[in-house]
Amino acid sequence: GPDIGSQKDRVVTEEEWLQKWEMGNIGFHKEQGHPLLQKYLDVLLNGRSGLRIFFPLCGKAVEMKWLADMGHSVVGVEVSEQALKEFFAEHSLPYCEEPVPEIAGAKKLQSTSGNISLYCCSIYDLSSSIVGKFDGVWDRGALVAVNPCDRQRYVSLMITLMEKNSSYLLVTVSYDPNKHKGPPFYVPESEIKSLFGNRCEIKCLQKVDDFSDRHRQWGLDYFLEVLYILKFVA
Ligand code: SAH
Repeated sequence: GPDIGSQKDRVVTEEEWLQKWEMGNIGFHKEQGHPLLQKYLDVLLNGRSGLRIFFPLCGKAVEMKWLADMGHSVVGVEVSEQALKEFFAEHSLPYCEEPVPEIAGAKKLQSTSGNISLYCCSIYDLSSSIVGKFDGVWDRGALVAVNPCDRQRYVSLMITLMEKNSSYLLVTVSYDPNKHKGPPFYVPESEIKSLFGNRCEIKCLQKVDDFSDRHRQWGLDYFLEVLYILKFVA
C-alpha cells in the first residue's frame, strides 16, 4: 500500500489522551459540529427514523445532541470522563451515572431523558452483548485517532456492532504522513478497502479541502477530509 511513513509504529496511550483533555489540548473538537454530517445526514438515515446511532471515540461531539434531538438514540464511548461531563454540562443536560457490571471500572453516563448513553471506558472493552447493535455510525476523529497497529482490531469490533443494512459515515484525513506524526493519522483509501471491503459496500462521497493554520503549524502544506459511506449489506 501507500507509504504511511513512520506512523505505522506510533502509539498514543490512554493516559496521553486523558492529559490532552486535562490540558484543554482539544483542537479536534468542533464547537459548531461537523458540516459533513449536516450535509450527508440523509445518506446516514436513509429514510429511517428512531435509529440507534453509535459514536465511537466520541469526545464531546455536539452531533450527539443533534441526533438525539431528532429522535434517535445515541450511544458513545470515550476514555475521558472529563470529556463526557463537559458534553452534558455544555448542553445543560441532566444525567445519571451507573457502573457497567460487565466492565471493571467502567461507567455509563446517561441523559435523564434516556436517549444519550455514554460509556466511559476503552472501546476495546465493549461488545454487542453490552451495547447492542447499531443502525448507524458517525466515525469522525475515531478511526483516524486509533493507533495504526490497532486498526484491524477496531474495525473487527465495529463490524460486530453493526446491524444488517446499517450505514456508517466515516471521515478520514489525507495529508503527507512524513510531515506530521499524528493523530489524526492518515488512512489511505486502499486501507479502508482492505479493512472493511469484504463486509460492506464502500462509496467515497466527498473530499474536502480542510487546510488551516493549525495544519500549517504541523508543517503540512495540504490537508483533506475524505468522507465515505459504508453499507453493511446483509
Ligand atoms: N470523535 C470526537 C473526538 C475525536 S479525538 C470528535 O470528533 O470531536 C479522539 C477521542 O478518542 C479522544 O477524546 C480520546 O480521549 C478518545 N479515545 C482514544 N482512545 C480511545 C479508546 N481506546 N476508547 C475510547 N476512547 C478513546
